[in-house]
Amino acid sequence: MSLATPTPEDLRHAIRNIPDFPQPGIQFKDITPVLANPRLFAAAVDLLTANWPAGSVDAVAGIDARGFIFAAAAALRLNAGFIPIRKQGKLPFDTLEESYALEYGTNTLAVHADALTPGSKVLLVDDLLATGGTAVAAARLLQRLSAEVVEVSCLVELAFLKGREKLGGLPFRSVVVF
Ligand code: AMP
Repeated sequence: MSLATPTPEDLRHAIRNIPDFPQPGIQFKDITPVLANPRLFAAAVDLLTANWPAGSVDAVAGIDARGFIFAAAAALRLNAGFIPIRKQGKLPFDTLEESYALEYGTNTLAVHADALTPGSKVLLVDDLLATGGTAVAAARLLQRLSAEVVEVSCLVELAFLKGREKLGGLPFRSVVVF
């Protein structure tokens, strides 16, 4: 890699494919090599937030768990608050919850009931968009708090799963498409 600012192609090369993790048939996209390299990590955050100058959003919401890493860094970059959207049972105060179907079973996400003031502009960040179910549920939680989801921004998009079609017209950005 040269000393120039890393590109999405550099990020694509750094993301490691782990076949059959956590179960047979899943190609797990391991983003830890991006995190381990400060230039790649900084470029990932810059690209995730490229549409949003500092001060243009009130908060960045991140999805448990890898989404937290990018969303927290993005929040500092944008001079915005950070809102964790967690798996059920982890947040200590009153919560709103949203369940969605997985291939087998369901998953539930939660947000603190007082996390946002109505009308807040929120950038929703996750590491990866696959089928889109997680992002839709997270966006729905933010909308139930009367926030405006200005964009869903993911480092990786698995385009063959057509997750972006599930987002129902929410603005969507991805940095690396597989
Ligand atoms: P989905 O709801 O199908 O869009 O799944 C997206 C969520 O599951 C994200 O929070 C990802 O961290 C995780 N995820 C799903 N598929 C993968 C994959 N192939 N590699 C890494 N993470 C994944």
